[in-house]
Amino acid sequence: MQEPTEAAILATLRAWVETESPTRHAAGVNRVADLAEGQLRAIGAAIERRPGRDGMGDLLLARLPGERDGPGLLLLGHMDTVHPVGTLAGPLPFRVEDGRAYGPGIYDMKAGNVMALAALEHLHARGERPLLPVTVMLIPDEELGSPTTRAAIEAEARRHAAALVFEPSGEGGKLTVARHGIARWRLRARGRSAHAGAYHADGISAVRIMAQAVLALEGLTDHARNFCVNIGTIAGGTHENMVPAECSAICYALVPTAREAQELEQAVAALPVEAEPGLGRPPYGKTPAIQAMFDHAAHLAAGSAFPVAGERVAGGGSDGNFTGALGVPTLDGLGAIGAGPHTLEEHILTACLVPRTRLIAGLLRTLNPP
Ligand SMILES: [Zn+2]
Repeated sequence: MQEPTEAAILATLRAWVETESPTRHAAGVNRVADLAEGQLRAIGAAIERRPGRDGMGDLLLARLPGERDGPGLLLLGHMDTVHPVGTLAGPLPFRVEDGRAYGPGIYDMKAGNVMALAALEHLHARGERPLLPVTVMLIPDEELGSPTTRAAIEAEARRHAAALVFEPSGEGGKLTVARHGIARWRLRARGRSAHAGAYHADGISAVRIMAQAVLALEGLTDHARNFCVNIGTIAGGTHENMVPAECSAICYALVPTAREAQELEQAVAALPVEAEPGLGRPPYGKTPAIQAMFDHAAHLAAGSAFPVAGERVAGGGSDGNFTGALGVPTLDGLGAIGAGPHTLEEHILTACLVPRTRLIAGLLRTLNPP
């Protein structure tokens, strides 16, 4: 498209949204990858498609040259949604009402992906190149914590100068400059069983060990710091008349910075239980390089219908956690303005599509991270 128009972007977005792609529905995710691949091939991108693993869809990589050589920009998005197949035909059909477009995954994050591709198509149609080489990386399993793609994301991030992530914007159009992390631990306490009446003194209660561990871990919670430790599930013992020999629990924590992640790790290590880390997302904070990218974006969007409404630290995770935690300057939340992610009210404001696409195109033309 020579100039991005709302109608053209919305038509593409509709095709994406009407291709339902919950994470565990690999065929659906792959149909979204087909749509993206077709668009990227049409602008001359070199495509690499890595077959999905463990029941997940494919990973799509597309590379485009820049005006300059050297490490480029990693454009990150995910193709999966949380909405089961049938949501589109049932409670959340694609529809446009009062300037809002509704549909499963439209806000998180099909609109963001479609705008990123529209920005690249816009440059291509004008015979322009991005300033730096660009890699578009579309992920099949982000909503499950990117279990099959984390390593690939981190490997690509290390080769790039910066990452742009097209997850939903914050309220009114805020960009995400830092993210809290998520830490998960599987805990298992082992005791020694004994007849609870006749030989109680011979037993060691695994439930008691775990109970003390729960108090120790949850005691780290500090709401003022947004540090929240939750033992969400616990199971132990086999019979009321036996000293329990085993107890297991899962600890899920919101860790605002690396400091809290480390505090939790140290506390877990000090417990008399076995602990195994589960899927998590490391936190990252705003660095001077992220501040510079944010300022640049705000400058580009100033005076448009949707100026950058400020910055935010996001509580939820994204693939930006992986790039940011590696120290790769990461600007997230460049996607659509809307509301209701992961709900049946999920929608975007259609009026943001052109201004945001222009902002992304502007970043591709000019962004030159240190
Ligand atoms: Zn998302």
